Amino acid sequence: MKSTYRMLTRVPLFKLYRLIGWPRMLPLNVTLSPSPKCNSRCLTCNIWMKRENELTLDEWDKVLASLGDAPYWFTISGGEPLMYPNIVELAQLAYKHCRPGVINIPTNAILSSIPERVERIARSCPESQLIVNLSLDGVGPKHDVIRGIQGNFEKFETRLRQLMELRERLPNLAVGIHTVISSFNWKDISEIVRYADQSGADQFITEIAEPRVELDTVGLPITPNPADYSDAVDRVIAYVKGRSFKGIARITEALRIEYYNLVKRILEEKDQVIPCYAGWASAHIYADGSVWPCCVRADALGNLRAHGYDFKRIWFGSEITEVRRSIAARECHCTLANASYTNLLHHIPTLARVSAGLGASRLSGGEEKDKARQPPAVALPRSAPEPRSEEPRGQGERAFEWLDGFHHKMRKDDRYAEKALARYALGIKGKGAVEGVVAEPGPDCCEAASRLPHGRVYSPADAPRLPLPECSRERCDCVYRPAMRYADVHRADG
Ligand code: SF4
Repeated sequence: MKSTYRMLTRVPLFKLYRLIGWPRMLPLNVTLSPSPKCNSRCLTCNIWMKRENELTLDEWDKVLASLGDAPYWFTISGGEPLMYPNIVELAQLAYKHCRPGVINIPTNAILSSIPERVERIARSCPESQLIVNLSLDGVGPKHDVIRGIQGNFEKFETRLRQLMELRERLPNLAVGIHTVISSFNWKDISEIVRYADQSGADQFITEIAEPRVELDTVGLPITPNPADYSDAVDRVIAYVKGRSFKGIARITEALRIEYYNLVKRILEEKDQVIPCYAGWASAHIYADGSVWPCCVRADALGNLRAHGYDFKRIWFGSEITEVRRSIAARECHCTLANASYTNLLHHIPTLARVSAGLGASRLSGGEEKDKARQPPAVALPRSAPEPRSEEPRGQGERAFEWLDGFHHKMRKDDRYAEKALARYALGIKGKGAVEGVVAEPGPDCCEAASRLPHGRVYSPADAPRLPLPECSRERCDCVYRPAMRYADVHRADG
């Protein structure tokens, strides 16, 4: 298995690369999104509405070959990655060419074929740690409401049991629970943590719902405000601190606490807080072959189809220079977990804190097995603070104004209206939470756009086509936004 320590030896080189552009390095953390298709209808995500001209397996083969053995960590994301018909083969190609230390796959746990596919991946990638994280956004019916699929919670429980049985036979498989903390569930976090704690899963991790270009969630009120997030994540931190871990799990859990505290600061300060290495040490390859530094900005650095499927031609090309300048100049900030963990590994004060924390308590040494596989030593409810008042709060500020601006500034191609409205039509047809579409004038819109009725929800077939025919601007900065049926969730609150 590719060692964690070997990966860490590359950290100083990435710091140099980011600082002076040398030595040129391929990313160690790569996310692959082979398809946006998804059978969930989450209130926190709109990617399931997208359709792309997806890379074929032959194309992925060439792309992954061009990465060589650089990546240590692959996340195969989606859409729902285990719905992608060639997920097993894709993981096998990543393994064949890159021999990653970790292959991480999130799943919504809906399909009955998941255990069989996971088993095939684990068996055919024996030297990689395969981590499968099942999404859990609420306990019982609340989960179904947030995920938009009736019966999802029941399926989650079945899949969790099946995967934990598999884990007993597959030493390289770890099974986790992953919660997205959003405006819809931050108050429920104690209940979720208590459930996860008693589930027997190897790990419980959380992320915060955030606006991402990839997920089409820019402008949606899904991010809890900083105080609410802080309230929720402090309970998760209490949980992590209340358990005892050995070996490598002690490091990952210590980093997890660093991440949760980092997110609190990013929300408060609206800044990167620590330097971001997206575009240097982490990268994202989207379904259509686009290479991005991350899925939040989703800057088109180039398409692999136009570059002979050679990742290096994009990563070491000229298009990336301006994006790297912008990231280094802190023109963006976000809470993306995947990038943030990589950033924390490159942040010396964080590493020093993690090391000091490890040194403060006795090191176990010996075989580095995740203690989280054992029954939990400390039950969460004893260490978790009591929930705060359940008084309703506002939907939260827009903590990511820069991204909203970015969305308006994106260059629209000729088929913008056709593609965007088709996505929303699909959302309505698929019985998602999408109610319709709003045509939102941009900050520098023309006279005609300023007359658009404010906040009116159209059916996609009736929506005005953007850019408006009478648009007088050289570049239209108006955009479509989904109108969501959030009322359903609040009804479920009872
Ligand atoms: S701070 Fe966030 S948005 Fe900016 S490059 Fe890093 S991961 Fe992407």
